[in-house]
Amino acid sequence: MTAKLMDGKKVAQTIREDVKRRVDQLAASGVKPGLAVILVGDDPASRTYVNSKKRTCEKLGMRSDLIEYPETVTESELLSAVHRLNGDPGIHGILVQLPLPRQIDETAIINAIRPEKDVDGFHPINAGRLLTGGEGFIPCTPNGIMKLLEFYGIGVEGKNAVVIGRSNIVGKPAGLLLLRKNATVTFCHSRTENLQEITRQADIIIAAAGRPGMLRGDDIKEGAVVIDVGINRKPDGKLTGDAAFDELEPKASFITPVPGGVGPMTIAMLMANTVRSAENSLLKDKQAETM
Ligand code: NAD
Repeated sequence: MTAKLMDGKKVAQTIREDVKRRVDQLAASGVKPGLAVILVGDDPASRTYVNSKKRTCEKLGMRSDLIEYPETVTESELLSAVHRLNGDPGIHGILVQLPLPRQIDETAIINAIRPEKDVDGFHPINAGRLLTGGEGFIPCTPNGIMKLLEFYGIGVEGKNAVVIGRSNIVGKPAGLLLLRKNATVTFCHSRTENLQEITRQADIIIAAAGRPGMLRGDDIKEGAVVIDVGINRKPDGKLTGDAAFDELEPKASFITPVPGGVGPMTIAMLMANTVRSAENSLLKDKQAETM
């Protein structure tokens, strides 16, 4: 068997087309979706991500504000920025690029974002809604993974899904989304014993550990679906995932490449969340007018 490549660029394009159509519809009502990104410090990887988000926003006709602070910023300065953006009616999504420097309590900053503008889906209210099955913003990377599975017609119900990684940003929400779709989910992490025994049972594996090439050919069963979330930089500067792609491709039924798999989906889902936030706020304004 040779795995079918899951083309994140192609699927992300279909999502961006839908976002563009909705941006145009909102424009007819005088609304331009706005995303504000707070960037602290000079980390080159963070800057690359932020620039890419900004470019995508602009291409889709959305407003994009980049608010930059030096590494020495204080927590109260960041909190003031978040409060100002919370109150700005032209901003529908607020994103704080992580990680933040040590002197800042990341949780305090995320908790200060109004849940209706938390397009990253990291606020505890949105995380709680995901856990309990309510409507909220879903973190972009796991949401993008689910869209990829859907696009390629990969059924999840009743399947054995193994998630490697338990972060609040990727692993946990990915497992919860799979559970929502009735998969049988196993979370694995750095303290998991006999990881290989577990991954060999998996129909679907989400590799999100940030360990280059950790998932090897012998670690999966024939026909498994492999979603590689990892983004790791090799000494030559090129990107590589958590999966040893060359070993897995002949054995898996579907596999995502790195780059070009999950990565493009993350930004597309961010755009989708921002446009949804703008639609929600328009609806609220209309409802308020009729009251
Ligand atoms: P993280 O460091 O917060 O979490 C890593 C998780 O992996 C932890 O839960 C840890 O327990 C687990 N882990 C680490 N080593 C392990 C091992 N040897 N065996 C089993 N589990 C192990 O990272 P994160 O933010 O969840 O990101 C994970 C990876 O996904 C990183 O490479 C990151 O760059 C990438 N990422 C990609 C996208 C994208 O858009 N493609 C988005 C977010 C993160």
